[in-house]
Amino acid sequence: MDRVRNLESSVAGASRRAAALAIPPDARVIFEKVARRFASPLQGEERIAAVREALDLLHPFLDPAWAEQALARPVDRLPGVGPRRAEALAQRGLRSIADLLFRLPSRYDDRRTVALIGDLEVGSRATFVGDVLTVDFVARRGRGGRLFQALVGDQTGTVTLKWFRGGEALQSSLRKGRRIRVTGDVRRYRFTRELIHPEIDLLSEEEEGPASDPRVVPDYAAPEGIPPRTFRRTIAAAVKGYADLTDSHLPEDLVRERQLPETAVALRWIHDPGEDADLDALRTRETPAHQRLVLEELYLLEVGLALRRAKRAAEAGIAIDVARPRIDAAEAALPFRLTAAQSRAWGEIRADLARPHPMSRLLQGDVGSGKTAVAFLAAIAAAESGFQTALMAPTELLAEQHERTLLQLAAGGGRATRIRVALLTASVPRTDAEGIRSRLGRGEVDLVVGTHALVQGEVAFARLALAVVDEQHRFGVLQRAALAQKSHAGLSPHTLVMTATPIPRSLALTVYGDLDLSVIDELPPGRRPPETVLLRSGEGQRVTALIRETVARGEQVYVVYPLVEESEKTDLRAATESTERIRAAFPELRVDLVHGRLDSSARAEAMARFVEGSTQILVSTTVIEVGVDIPNATLMVVEHAERFGLAQLHQLRGRVGRRDRLGTCVLVARAASEDSEARLRAMLETSDGFRIADADLRIRGPGEFLGTRQHGRLPDLRIADLVRDTRLVSLAREAALATVRRDPGLHRVPDLARAVERRWGERLALMEIG
Ligand code: ADP
Ligand code: MG
Repeated sequence: MDRVRNLESSVAGASRRAAALAIPPDARVIFEKVARRFASPLQGEERIAAVREALDLLHPFLDPAWAEQALARPVDRLPGVGPRRAEALAQRGLRSIADLLFRLPSRYDDRRTVALIGDLEVGSRATFVGDVLTVDFVARRGRGGRLFQALVGDQTGTVTLKWFRGGEALQSSLRKGRRIRVTGDVRRYRFTRELIHPEIDLLSEEEEGPASDPRVVPDYAAPEGIPPRTFRRTIAAAVKGYADLTDSHLPEDLVRERQLPETAVALRWIHDPGEDADLDALRTRETPAHQRLVLEELYLLEVGLALRRAKRAAEAGIAIDVARPRIDAAEAALPFRLTAAQSRAWGEIRADLARPHPMSRLLQGDVGSGKTAVAFLAAIAAAESGFQTALMAPTELLAEQHERTLLQLAAGGGRATRIRVALLTASVPRTDAEGIRSRLGRGEVDLVVGTHALVQGEVAFARLALAVVDEQHRFGVLQRAALAQKSHAGLSPHTLVMTATPIPRSLALTVYGDLDLSVIDELPPGRRPPETVLLRSGEGQRVTALIRETVARGEQVYVVYPLVEESEKTDLRAATESTERIRAAFPELRVDLVHGRLDSSARAEAMARFVEGSTQILVSTTVIEVGVDIPNATLMVVEHAERFGLAQLHQLRGRVGRRDRLGTCVLVARAASEDSEARLRAMLETSDGFRIADADLRIRGPGEFLGTRQHGRLPDLRIADLVRDTRLVSLAREAALATVRRDPGLHRVPDLARAVERRWGERLALMEIG
């Protein structure tokens, strides 16, 4: 050991460099101690003792979990954070130091330029310097209490600052004659301008302009009860003490290609971007630093999803012989030629079915893009190898409709398409249901269509190989899982999930990210998008005229009313009254009313009458929303359109003009919220389901978009935004797939494996049930 040269200087140097990083004070103390111990040359025993001591001291840092644990420390380990502050922070979900590090500024104050008071613009945020001209407390008219206000002026004008709370504390420092720097939102008050609860700095005599603070200041939307400046300092303390403990996992090539900074560097810069920062890029989060953080987060999630997908893909499954000639014959015998997009999707599904591993695939396509035909071909392929298919629909009406369509497809192509189709829902009479169940058990049904009744315990399949879930955002994950559990000889069936309308790509890749994706992005030829008309209530005459024209052409009409549970009674009454009004207006026509309260035979009879054309007008609550396909119906009147979601409206519109005839969709709306107007605008602007979906996501945000049932699937992302960061989601997805393909066990990147487990492990295990 005596022969090691320069030991002291290199240990001391390394320790000093470590102590200079953004690490916690307790760690810094240790590195400083080691640096001191090796400050001068040592000899013999003393040198050995020093090395032993240093090894002891540094031992905790060898554990890779150390940094992780430090980042997980509670916020009250930071200077200035006591139990009360910690509580206020916890209210906003800020519990650990990492939570603070990753709470990014919502915007920045530009204090590089100091405005003149005369130039302050209402509605803008500004920084200016002025002298306190007067201060006083005034009673708040009509509201009790009093407010503290200060009139501030420079050579160009004056402005009022107001505080509804905390005036007493301010009173002592904010005295007449003080020069102050003010930052805040300028508002109009009668004929003057004012700032409510601005941030102020008291300036000393010589300090004329902005000086002490950094001049580009992050603005964090501080939790209730914590002054903005205090919150900023707390975050700054977290950055100073912990930023360098954060880790970076993105693959090197991606980092190089996009020139991304390390996570720690990105964090430090975003929290304190310095003098030359481009504030526009910062505000819109379009900097490489933001990209780094977003990609890091999405990459971990996508790696987790890719692992899950790989794991399921490795399970033993049922290899279906997809080369049998009848499968091609069935495709040729369909009443139409598949579109290129249908062919592509079918090719992907077909290849999956042939593998001895369960398929997990999401089939996306716009309303009317022909998903059912693709599912039908898959069922033929399964049947041809002696296997069964189950198709699960979210409502009885839709299951019945599917059964009708599939029966037609099965009967229409002669021997090539003939398969045995059965329907199983809760309203199938008990004895019939028993018969179907036992035929299923004996393998005498090839394709069973149903609702969740299909997954109830007593249904046993002889040879289930394919589960198709027509999801429509309505099924719980658990029901889907239950169907997948109905395995054949212990082998999981192939699963195909179909969505009713497209979902935006960023959601497909995260919420459904463990599934493979097939997209039908093309409608069958000759389909013209329905004409969409927006009427305001009170324009009932025009609706009546449109109905009259439509029936005069021998075509049929849907009138749809919203029905929500909370206002079910009034909604139903509205639909009933409207039916009566229409009957009175068109005594020569037949009008039916269907709604969810009708028993299924009455509903089926009404539907049958409409299908065969003996009724001309079908008034209904939203039950026809999904999937019903009646080519002769060309006019869709949606009453209270402002109460429908965008996806629903698009679905409804998809019900008319499905063939060569031009459909018309009339949206009758009362002026309502901004969001509902945005939905109606989107409906008028486009009929492309993929664009509608994007608009819907922008209007509602991911949580609402998915609706309550699916909400639980939404990953709680800290930084990435599924609306804004669509492109980065795809990028992270590709990178993650490549990583897992190269190294399925993540053996070469144990840190990544640990990070994924830590961040998403619980979540993905939960999804495992589904
Ligand atoms: P989705 O379920 O995707 O909304 P469907 O499967 O119900 O759409 O198909 C809508 C309509 O289009 C059906 O009437 C169907 O027969 C028809 N169709 C499907 N594929 C084609 C095609 N390639 N060419 C012409 N018509 C088609
Ligand atoms: Mg459909």
